[in-house]
Amino acid sequence: MFNGVLINKDEQGYSAALTPIEESRLPEGDVKVKIDYSTLNYKDGLAITGKAPVVRSFPMIAGIDFAGTVLESASPKFRPGDAVVLNGWGVGEKHWGGLAQLAAVKADWLVPLPSALTQRQAMSIGTAGYTAMLCILMLERHGVTPDKGEIIVTGASGGVGSIAIAILSKLGYTVVAVTGRANEPDYLKSLGAAEVLDRSLFTEPGKPLTSERWAGAVDTVGTHVLANICASMRYRGVVTACGLAGGRDFPSTVAPFILRGVTLVGVDSVMCPYADRVEAWGRLANDLDPSKLDLVTSEIGLSEAIPMAKGLLEGKVRGRIVVDVNR
Ligand code: NDP
Repeated sequence: MFNGVLINKDEQGYSAALTPIEESRLPEGDVKVKIDYSTLNYKDGLAITGKAPVVRSFPMIAGIDFAGTVLESASPKFRPGDAVVLNGWGVGEKHWGGLAQLAAVKADWLVPLPSALTQRQAMSIGTAGYTAMLCILMLERHGVTPDKGEIIVTGASGGVGSIAIAILSKLGYTVVAVTGRANEPDYLKSLGAAEVLDRSLFTEPGKPLTSERWAGAVDTVGTHVLANICASMRYRGVVTACGLAGGRDFPSTVAPFILRGVTLVGVDSVMCPYADRVEAWGRLANDLDPSKLDLVTSEIGLSEAIPMAKGLLEGKVRGRIVVDVNR
């Protein structure tokens, strides 16, 4: 038997409960992993509460990521004892996920954990931090170097935002953080933000173009925030859009794209190609100061994941939550 956060939808309604589960019920997968740590991501909050249709088959074990140790492998890629990390691929949505003590998954979904990272650090980074790194890789690939100017990061005290700030500042970028939490400037500055701006400056409908300020952007919020950022990009600036914490609409015009040559890059972590994942995890092992990771992380046990999910969606959680699945 193993414990997992099991989500059900039946005539009684939608429910999530910490449940003992027979090992024989694990889904098909060529690698069996003993999970050490998982995390609570925004999407896990949606899945656990049922606030959005994230889960596509029931019953489902929640958790879109995990770090653990291979127990059994039918694939030549992995051997028992290997440390691995998994993000996305529909895990926790249509294949049993990481908020559990065991998982059975495809070998192709697993990335070897870089030796510089512990399993706990990997989940302190989690899908949020790995997505932040994917955004930064995209800024780099589009030529945004630190000398080009300021980078704006929205949803700054959330998981993606916090880790993006920590990495960007270590890489030498000047980072401006946008937050709705007036009481967080010290936290954001300790992560490396040079300046902290109030979210309200960006949430109202704005002009198609305003004065040029940002060389790059990491947006986790969407809606007017994303539109206003596009309007204030410098000539040939690059916006990476990965989130919808404020809404999924994009009330913009084409003006920033056709008059300032702004590039809008979509970032998806779920189906991201394998080579990019390996590159992202390698860079996370090098470009993220572990002491910053301690600043952003709080730890809970598996039993606390369900009550914490609601607070996460209400924007009450700062930084990253690591889940020790064995307590
Ligand atoms: P968190 O919940 O940790 O952080 C989200 C942050 O967004 C909050 O901390 C808050 O920051 C801000 N926020 C919350 N509500 C609103 C609102 N109504 N309007 C404006 N800002 C708001 O989530 P994550 O950082 O883990 O994820 C951020 C977004 O990125 C989510 O939408 C998530 O679904 C998405 N995501 C996408 C991925 C992909 O593959 N594309 C992968 C991972 C995440 P503050 O208080 O500082 O303003």
